[in-house]
Amino acid sequence: MPTEPSAASIKTTCPYCGVGCGVKATVTAHEVIINGDDEHPANFGRLCSKGSALGETLNLDGRLLAPQIRDDSGALHETGWDDVLNRVADKFKQVIADHGPDAVAFYVSGQLLTEDYYIANKLMKGFIGSANIDTNSRLCMSSAVAAHKRAFGEDVVPVNYDDLEAAELIVLVGSNTAWCHPIVYQRIVKAKENNPQLKIVVVDPRRTATCDIADLHLPLIAGTDVWLFNGLLSHLHQHKLHDAAFISEHTRGLGKALLVAENTAGSIASVAKTCGVNPSALEEFYALFARHSRVITLFSQGVNQSSQGTDKANAIINCHLLTGRISKPGMGPFSITGQPNAMGGREVGGLANMLAAHMDLEDATHRQLVQTFWESPVIADKPGLKAVDLFKAIHAGKVKAVWIMATNPVVSLPDANKVKAALQKCELVVVSDVVMNTDTNHCAHVLLPAAAWGEKDGTVTNSERRISRQRKFLPLPAQAKPDWWIICEVARRMGFAHGFNFNSAREIFLEHAALSAKDNHGERVFNLDGLTCLSESEFDELQPIQWPVLEKKVGTARVYEEGRYSFADHKARFVPTRPHMPKHARNEEYPLVLNTGRIRDQWHTMTRTGKAARLNTHIPEPFVDMHPQDALLYGVREGELVRVATRWGSMIARLKCSGEVPRRMIFVPIHWNGAYSSDARVGALVNPVVDPASGEPELKHTPARVASFVTAWQGFVLSRQPMVIKDAIWWTQMQGEQFIRHEIAGRRTYSDWSPWARKLLGAEDPRADFLEYFDVGTRVYRAAHIVDDRIESCVFVSPRPDLPSRTWLAGLFSKSKLSDRDRAGILAGRAIDAGADAGATVCSCFGVGRNTICNAIKKDKLSTVQQLGQKLKCGTNCGSCIPELRNILLELSAVETE
Ligand code: SF4
Repeated sequence: MPTEPSAASIKTTCPYCGVGCGVKATVTAHEVIINGDDEHPANFGRLCSKGSALGETLNLDGRLLAPQIRDDSGALHETGWDDVLNRVADKFKQVIADHGPDAVAFYVSGQLLTEDYYIANKLMKGFIGSANIDTNSRLCMSSAVAAHKRAFGEDVVPVNYDDLEAAELIVLVGSNTAWCHPIVYQRIVKAKENNPQLKIVVVDPRRTATCDIADLHLPLIAGTDVWLFNGLLSHLHQHKLHDAAFISEHTRGLGKALLVAENTAGSIASVAKTCGVNPSALEEFYALFARHSRVITLFSQGVNQSSQGTDKANAIINCHLLTGRISKPGMGPFSITGQPNAMGGREVGGLANMLAAHMDLEDATHRQLVQTFWESPVIADKPGLKAVDLFKAIHAGKVKAVWIMATNPVVSLPDANKVKAALQKCELVVVSDVVMNTDTNHCAHVLLPAAAWGEKDGTVTNSERRISRQRKFLPLPAQAKPDWWIICEVARRMGFAHGFNFNSAREIFLEHAALSAKDNHGERVFNLDGLTCLSESEFDELQPIQWPVLEKKVGTARVYEEGRYSFADHKARFVPTRPHMPKHARNEEYPLVLNTGRIRDQWHTMTRTGKAARLNTHIPEPFVDMHPQDALLYGVREGELVRVATRWGSMIARLKCSGEVPRRMIFVPIHWNGAYSSDARVGALVNPVVDPASGEPELKHTPARVASFVTAWQGFVLSRQPMVIKDAIWWTQMQGEQFIRHEIAGRRTYSDWSPWARKLLGAEDPRADFLEYFDVGTRVYRAAHIVDDRIESCVFVSPRPDLPSRTWLAGLFSKSKLSDRDRAGILAGRAIDAGADAGATVCSCFGVGRNTICNAIKKDKLSTVQQLGQKLKCGTNCGSCIPELRNILLELSAVETE
């Protein structure tokens, strides 16, 4: 949790989600203290659990610190920058000479800073001459980008965070905002507290933590959103709620869009049936939307990650255009991005179908403008390969050299086993990364050590078009370098020195800003004219600012205020949206729908959040969430290991029946990977179908099945040192406070576990202080290795999954001396002292466990979240655990009532 800074703080920006919270980092002799920036307009000082724990992710454990090259035997060897840069440049040049510019590609990331992104895009499109540069933002919000371009003529978000506080109705579609954009969620919670009239509607198949504040939850069938919003368009029109003046002066195309909406979703009854929602609940939603003019429809990956993601977003935008509820305080369609710099990447054209500065690849005038500005030898003149197609082309041998920057596609892309196979057969795979052990790095021929958060300098843009500085507060370790530097050095060695003579992120930013303003007489909203001449100190001190910036350092909060959109005729477009179900439907073999997404305390593939012990305690292992009736139907039990399989791949996870998931759906988190678990890459299971307009994959709808994963025993090991556990057919591991936790399962059993356990725990010496217990009847085995009265490691094994509390045992690792009662507890398999087992962590900020919360509720007769906060502090920092606290209060009050 945040503490008071004692030395001068550096203001920077959180590197996780698209909320873009301001952070203050204070470097002391022993640690980096992280606090929220009170003055940043995104968060006003608040940080979520992930942001608060940033200081714990900055150590150099597991870092990639020197360039490395893999030899023919597969071994990696360290080398110097000169050597590695020459090799990368030479190989790219050779492939281009032999096979043309489209035989090479970059796959980059919304984690890059705008300046890194700008340089990568410039090299590929202006100097190599291909548009084969795509990004993991393709998986995140490219459908929203395509929808904005279809509706407004440009990728512009017409809403600000402030509007959430001015709204009368907020509709959250396909967004578990409470977990995925926690600070935006907290702003909504606060807005509702301040204005109890504010209504919240959640449209989501799952009953997520976000529903905690919902006045109405519409659990629609996955993939039916277009019907829902076509129905709304039709309903609004039928009830004469259209804004005739706005439509005639500022839009085109209503007739066709309305015809399609009425033909596909003309009645509440038919929409309710198709979407699988209660007709009266649907009517209530439509009535709420009709009644409130200040309405924001906030949408996220549940909308975007779909084979009709662009249509879903346009169906939402159509409703706002019909009612004229856009570009005014408290209203509009609000795409909230997943990644910290997804929007910055869009600004520089970091997607395969864009140019730069919001210009179009297909537009000859734009191409000419950019090429002249860059003084580049060539300019890409056709779209490149989007993410999924790019890896297919690598697999087919058409793309022969790829440079992957700051992303882990072997985990995150759909059909990820094929992605891995593609990289394994690619002639050259270069990876720039911060950490050493990732699934993608294992496929690399060349590894380039990139600077991490805190070590690099530049800008990012958040979901509300706000550019913020990321500032360096730590030195570059060993040979790590900023991404823009690495790209520039390769470009120079490829013979493009004149376009890449940059000495700082500021110089790149100024060029980027100048390009945005070049010959821009209002045609493109994205314009940083007022930032083109920043001095070094002005850049250093740049305050968060929303684009467009037309006068020096003066941003623009509201866009399209006068209804002049980015098309040549300045009119927005209604887009006819014809609904269809996802391509791959459930069937007898795969009767469930696999939905994927994020959890509260992890980020992407855990390369950073996995290092913070307190973030690993809320959900410590991969899971699959399933409706309890489906669990009964398919013969699996909560707490057991199960195998989840689809046509594309399979994985193993612990079964959970949270009650959040509807019948015939399962939910699996995206985070786990080969570094943390033996078999939990959900990307390997996801079908590679994409949206035809955006190329965004259908990450939330793959037919799947679930079956028991039979093991002879399950167990866990807690150890101060990392260890490899032989005989485990499944494992997952997490970093704890002073220990590593391994969950394991196996099929080979022993009549005597002792030799195995002694070897595993390093206690083969008969004089070792070794506690052990074996029950021949139940075949339960426990052992602990104690060194100098401190627990060094322990192992627990049982044929059943009901093993002792890891939280209680974890607490023993922070003790300098075990008591006799602790030793007795290890043998008994439970805490002897009352209150010693805090239970599973609920509040990560203050490390408060479920048992502690339940005990306090019972003992002190607590009945509100506020009382719990006063007593235990839980829920009083980031607030992300408040829905869970409320659930525990409800559960216990229900038990009492019974
Ligand atoms: Fe970082 Fe997003 Fe959390 Fe803000 S809400 S602290 S940007 S992860």
